[in-house]
Amino acid sequence: MAEKISAVKGMNDVLPPHSGDWEWLESMVRQLMFRHGYKNIRTPIVEPTGLFIRGLGEVTDIVEKEMYSFSDRLNGEELTLRPENTAGVVRACIEHSLLHEGGKRLYYMGPMFRHERPQRGRYRQFHQIGAEALGFGGPEVDAEIILLAESLWKALGLQGVRLEVNSLGQLNERHAHRAALITYLEKHHTQLDADAKRRLHSNPLRILDTKNPDLQDLVNDAPQLVDFLGTASLDHFNRLREILDACQISYRINPRLVRGMDYYNLTVFEFITDSLGSQGTICGGGRYDGLFEELGGKPAPAIGWAMGVERVIELLRDQDRLPSQAHPDIYAIVGDSKDLPQVFPFLQTLRGAGLSVQMHASPRSEWSGIKAQFKKADASGATYALIFGPDELKQGMVACKPLRNDQQAQGMMALADLAQWAGHLQSAPR
Ligand code: ATP
Ligand code: MG
Repeated sequence: MAEKISAVKGMNDVLPPHSGDWEWLESMVRQLMFRHGYKNIRTPIVEPTGLFIRGLGEVTDIVEKEMYSFSDRLNGEELTLRPENTAGVVRACIEHSLLHEGGKRLYYMGPMFRHERPQRGRYRQFHQIGAEALGFGGPEVDAEIILLAESLWKALGLQGVRLEVNSLGQLNERHAHRAALITYLEKHHTQLDADAKRRLHSNPLRILDTKNPDLQDLVNDAPQLVDFLGTASLDHFNRLREILDACQISYRINPRLVRGMDYYNLTVFEFITDSLGSQGTICGGGRYDGLFEELGGKPAPAIGWAMGVERVIELLRDQDRLPSQAHPDIYAIVGDSKDLPQVFPFLQTLRGAGLSVQMHASPRSEWSGIKAQFKKADASGATYALIFGPDELKQGMVACKPLRNDQQAQGMMALADLAQWAGHLQSAPR
């Protein structure tokens, strides 16, 4: 036998029946986006590497060590499998002048790629659903986009998802804070770990984000950005909070919430659960008013979030919130394979009437016996078996057997009445 080929490490197949969970989540998201006026955008999975270097900042985990980058063998272009999709969405907006007539509300779903150590909730190909509100500068859109995620948890029936928010202020305010932070960290230089020492001058804010337990005390006592915010930034934050409070959204202000990417300003937020171990952040986002300019567009304010689909699905499974899998309405049993051409049009009629019809197919070239077909019908979970026997067919009849509710006996039906029967099934509550 030829050697087997496996999937790339950290990249997963999504197989039935679990793929049904994904489809369900996606359909819930589509409904919700529609209700909030967000439209779908689909951008390429491969982008020029420079997009992420400029868009995310050079001193970020993603750009420093997580990107799948390569030179196109044919023309030498430097390309990268997208590690996230905000930069791509903004690139597309600039390229197609999408903000020409005002703001845009967009959402996407799809695979992202980061070369990380695979573990529970952390993969090399993973999936994000994201929402971006582009061209709106006021705190009301910050509230809208946070409420959008909040309504998703509610629609999915998820429990125990906490919201943390913070304000990063504006660049000059961050610079003042950064200077104070560097002075403070330099004073405690000997306590820093290698990562922190390396970031001390390039990106000291990220040190606040450290997961090293030995640094927590040091980081807790560090100068806080909120003390450096001016009135406009504070006002933006307070107006957001007023709307969240009015909507009875509970949240915690986490002054150490900084987020991984450099392009954020003002509002940042995360939705966190305690039940997924250390991969507890299921959704993160914030305002990135500087990104359009950074990527060569006209300045435009923007805010967005991205959620990790694998983590949300796992949480849904933990909390037993995934709906049971759909079964076919009908399993079609055909007594004699010679009758298949006569039966096929009826199956198409039933499908045309909106029913889910699974036809028996034989595993080998000879046609299966009735008993074997009944076994498959039972295993399929179908509501009814339709039995197209040779004698019945000659009389223009078909037998119908309820499979999940044995009070009703097997009944005979005229083939000519099948369409009407199907319409009847459709109107019954399902
Ligand atoms: P983390 O701190 O967990 O690495 P992050 O800050 O890198 O997260 P973002 O870039 O903000 O994550 O991405 C948004 C969301 O995408 C995360 O909150 C998480 O749910 C999900 N996510 C990020 N990286 C991965 C991954 N490698 N595998 C699965 N999900 C991921
Ligand atoms: Mg990460």
